[in-house]
Amino acid sequence: MMKPLIHVLALGGTIATRPDPTGAMQMGLGADDLTAAVPKLGNVADIRAETVSRVGSHSLAFDDIHALAGKIRASVADGVVVTQGTDTLEETSFLLDLLLDLGKPVIVTGAMRNPALASPDGPGNLLGAVRVAANPWMRAHARELGVVVVMLDAVFAAADVLKTHPTRIDAFAAPQTGPLAVLVEGRVVPMSLPVRDAVESARNLMGHHFGPAQPVALLWSSLDESDALMRAIAEGQGHLGYRGVVMGAMGGGHLPERTVASARALATRLPTVVSPRAGGGPLLRNTYGGGSSEIALRKAGLIWGGRLHPLKARVLLETCLRAGLARDTIAQVFDAFG
Ligand code: ASP
Repeated sequence: MMKPLIHVLALGGTIATRPDPTGAMQMGLGADDLTAAVPKLGNVADIRAETVSRVGSHSLAFDDIHALAGKIRASVADGVVVTQGTDTLEETSFLLDLLLDLGKPVIVTGAMRNPALASPDGPGNLLGAVRVAANPWMRAHARELGVVVVMLDAVFAAADVLKTHPTRIDAFAAPQTGPLAVLVEGRVVPMSLPVRDAVESARNLMGHHFGPAQPVALLWSSLDESDALMRAIAEGQGHLGYRGVVMGAMGGGHLPERTVASARALATRLPTVVSPRAGGGPLLRNTYGGGSSEIALRKAGLIWGGRLHPLKARVLLETCLRAGLARDTIAQVFDAFG
């Protein structure tokens, strides 16, 4: 039987580090090094390895991921595996998911333990990702699954996966939905297909043309917080360069009472999305009264972020703004997320 061709695109991250003379881990390995270190890949697929960059994912930009999406679209392979740092993997995978609508698997993976540590997870994660990319169920359902993340033998939907720990090997989870599939003995065991309506509706409303970067601020509501940052953005020159704001709001979509006037003012000037700082949703829409409640904030024009984690909401808002969407259409995009 012909093996599928899998294109491995390496961006950098812990998976691609090696020690310098002081013992500190530095970016260094390319896609050839990563794939050569896992000879079993050859049993699963024919591999094309390409080094895109050698940077930590904490330094990636939205533009890098748009360029990566272009490379993935142009790839003639049967499936694509992206290796990168884990710090922003939950954001980059979701952006790829919004940008790509391919009939072939696109997998993002990385490593929590660097190659100099005992039992590094990079080689196992790369092998797992290639197995998932080559798997017939994944290939048959690639469109319905969208971009997925493979870490520690679990397959997660990009819209749901979160990095939940800075160092543990089991750092990745989809707390709201669980994994889509798991890998056991090299077999991909399907568990569920994700609900894709919201991502698909976002794609339809956004279209395919994206302009330059649109900086989006992320503000986190917290106990006894002042409105100083909201005011600084609303009243600052050129809104300090920001084109939109995401607020990680409390509970079902609440902000401290003392910040509400500034939040309302901000929402009249820039698209301002309220998203659950609890990490999942959906937010409430119609339960609590009073000025700082979801009913009042929605009436005041704040965009309701639904079930998306604030980090994912920020990715979606930046993408909507790049697509040139007006406030009401942005609200429609987010509305589909609950
Ligand atoms: N700082 C690293 C990065 O995101 C961490 C990692 O890869 O796990 O690139």
